[in-house]
Amino acid sequence: MRDYYATLGVSRNATPDEIKKAYRRLARELHPDVNPDAESQEKFKEVTQAYEVLSDPKKREMHDLGADPFGSSMGGGGAGFGAGFPFSDIMDTLFGTASARGPRSRARRGRNATLRVELDLAETAFGTTRELTIDTATVCGACTGSGAAAGSHPDTCEMCHGRGEIQQVQRSFLGQVMTSRPCPQCGGYGSVIRNPCPECAGDGRVRTQRTIKVKIPAGVEHGTHIQLAGEGEVGPGGGPPGDLFLEIVERPHAIFEREGDDLHCTVQIPMTAAALGTSVVIETLDGPEDVDIRPGTQSGQVIPLYGRGAQHLNASGRGDLMIHVNVETPAKLDPAQEELLRELARLRGEERPPGKFAPGQQGFFSRLRDAFNG
Ligand SMILES: [Zn+2]
Ligand SMILES: [Zn+2]
Repeated sequence: MRDYYATLGVSRNATPDEIKKAYRRLARELHPDVNPDAESQEKFKEVTQAYEVLSDPKKREMHDLGADPFGSSMGGGGAGFGAGFPFSDIMDTLFGTASARGPRSRARRGRNATLRVELDLAETAFGTTRELTIDTATVCGACTGSGAAAGSHPDTCEMCHGRGEIQQVQRSFLGQVMTSRPCPQCGGYGSVIRNPCPECAGDGRVRTQRTIKVKIPAGVEHGTHIQLAGEGEVGPGGGPPGDLFLEIVERPHAIFEREGDDLHCTVQIPMTAAALGTSVVIETLDGPEDVDIRPGTQSGQVIPLYGRGAQHLNASGRGDLMIHVNVETPAKLDPAQEELLRELARLRGEERPPGKFAPGQQGFFSRLRDAFNG
């Protein structure tokens, strides 16, 4: 009488899961496809037999009590594989080579669908409501999804007698092994539709257009996906519907560039206004707003308008609007203007200014130096 726990290398109080894991590991190692040598095959038979016993609560109990669950006819050792040994069952459960027993259902979950929704910046920033027309599969009204013509119903398959699978006995190195495969006659459904519904040709669904109203939340942006559970295609055979995904496509804005929930824009300020200070009217998403340009504003300076960006998605608060200032140098001067500017330059002692480097301009060279010395 062998100790099956030792064969699988598990303790006597191992859980079914531990036993399964141990067997799975050993079976992978010793599988005849991997190790065709005689010793591995013998070992493979032993661990499979051990698993057959320990995975069955009744047989495990017998084994624990010291009895041989295979009975005297099996003899000792690993020679217990004979006709009818439910080997394929074990392999199926372990390696998932077969689906659940019995006929499979015609009803399957429908596919997900994706729909692109084009929106303006104001719509993505603040949210909107859209009516969307979707062309999708819906349940066939004529057969209510069954696929059989009105007044008829699917017949039991003659080949598999409704079981949905065909069993075969095959000879292998383990002796005779029962295998099962989906019935080719009915495709595994166990029934055959002889009178398909003329509306849907037996599929149980038809394509229709329907319109749904969708609330787009504030703060979505280009590429955001919105999942609408159950709004996708219904499945074949009256199966549950998949989901509908809306993919947000944000149209580029003429003025604002979006970066997360912040918006950026650039305003041009004449040189004199930048020097003297002024106020400009900026058209924000919330309407026109007076923006103060302080005297001495430099080109490239950024004036933030806090809370004037896009709404945060699923959170309170908003991003900011960043106004980048671009100071314009006059390109053409009439004689009077030129005279004034020359006078100004003279007063400021700027007629022949030194070529001063702005801080940071040397950055490129210092990085280059660091790259060579580092
Ligand atoms: Zn139909
Ligand atoms: Zn069949």
